Parts: sequence; structure tokens; C-alpha cells
Amino acid sequence: MENWFLSKKIDKKTFVISEPGHWEETNCYLLIGAKNALLIDTGLGVSDISKEVLKITEKPVIAVPTHVHWDHIGGLWNFPEFYVHEFEKDWIERKFPLSNEFVRKQLVKDNNLTERINAEDYAIFQGKPKKVLSDGDVIDLGNRKIRVIHTPGHSPGHICFFEEETGYLFTGDLIYNGTLFANYESTDPEKYLESVKKIEKLPVKRVFPAHHSLEISPEFISDVKNGLSKLKNEGKLCHGSGKFDFENWSIFL
Ligand SMILES: [Zn+2]
Ligand SMILES: [Zn+2]
Repeated sequence: MENWFLSKKIDKKTFVISEPGHWEETNCYLLIGAKNALLIDTGLGVSDISKEVLKITEKPVIAVPTHVHWDHIGGLWNFPEFYVHEFEKDWIERKFPLSNEFVRKQLVKDNNLTERINAEDYAIFQGKPKKVLSDGDVIDLGNRKIRVIHTPGHSPGHICFFEEETGYLFTGDLIYNGTLFANYESTDPEKYLESVKKIEKLPVKRVFPAHHSLEISPEFISDVKNGLSKLKNEGKLCHGSGKFDFENWSIFL
């Protein structure tokens, strides 16, 4: 599909590949090392992201979704070298916990994209990862090391990626400017807060979210922590308590 992705350079070894025409505004990131490239998230899979990657680098690609949700794993089918967190291995190999029908509705909601997206034929990607990841694992791209940080809450095997040398933190669906989700059965609001506290301790210089605007400051992590802590103190940090709006973000619980 023409013009589905929009790629931008962050620095000479780091790129963002976004899906700006879709309501989710997913951002995938391509990190280039001396030996390999790492693709963090792969988008919805309605257009072939591997072609977009090839315009930027010809290095062998390791693809790793921040978590096994359709908008992050859709493009994995073109990357045989892909890894997932151990807690979502089952989701990708055998059974995703939500139905294809639910996902198809999500895919076309809030958008007039029925001409571009054939939702009826859309199926959630399933496949066998080359490796499973755990908290603290390091992906070495050759002169570039990226640390895996297990951050459950939005999903049980959600991971963020941290690069010590640049202070870059790739936050997936844990932190972004928009509505955060901790309302599905497979989410855990308490763990969500613990994960935000965990990444707040890192020496972060730039935050790169999986959705919406890239204009996020590291202080935003503390804003989310403060908001969730307030909800916890009020006894509202649990499933079914509703949607809460803060200054630049909301959360569904
Ligand atoms: Zn998600
Ligand atoms: Zn997402």
C-alpha cells in the first residue's frame, strides 16, 4: 500500500516508522547497530513494513514487539528473526486472548479506512519466536546495546527498551500521550503503576512512545506515576472503576 508509513530520522542510527493515517498512530522504531538492526514494534500489518525498513537499512533485522497486541505484531510475518517476552510466548504461538472479530472492529473504528483496510481478511499474526526474552536481557546490535525491561500492566509480557548510551527509552503502550488502557482482562492496574515506577528510576533523556506524539518529556513518566498513585490512594486503581482524565493523558481501568 502506497504512503501508509511515514519514516523520520531521529539521529543517524535511529528512525521512527509511523502509521499516521490510522487512529492509533502507531510508532515503530528502527535502531541500527554495526551488525544488526532492531525493529521495535511492527505496526498493524495492513502494509508491508519490511519494505519501509529496506529503504533505511539492509542490515539483518531482529524484530521485537513491546507486547503481543495486533497493532505491534502485525508486520512480524516478514521477519523470521523475532523475539517476544516469555509471558506472551503462548499468545503469539497459539492463542491470542481476544477474538479476530474484536480486533477487526478495532482496526476500522474511528476511521474511514474501509477502502484501504480489508478488515474481513485481517487475522492476528501467529508464529514461533526465535527467542524468548526476560527482564534485563540485552540485545547487542554490534556497538549498540539495548536493554529489555519487563513492564507488565498493559499486558503481562509488556517490555520497554532502554539504551544506556543515549538515554533513549522506548515505552510501547505503557506511556504515551493519549488514552492508556488497563481495562482488558489481561491488564493489571497495580502492576501498571509498579512498571511506571520502575522506568521512572532510569536516567532517561528521551521517551519514544508506541502511539501518538513523539513530543514527550521524561517528566511525563512522573506525571503518569503521580496520577496512578493518586487513583491508588483513592481506591480506584482497579478494573471497572472507569476512565480518568489528566492533563495530557487518560486511563481506562
Ligand atoms: Zn497494547
Ligand atoms: Zn498499542
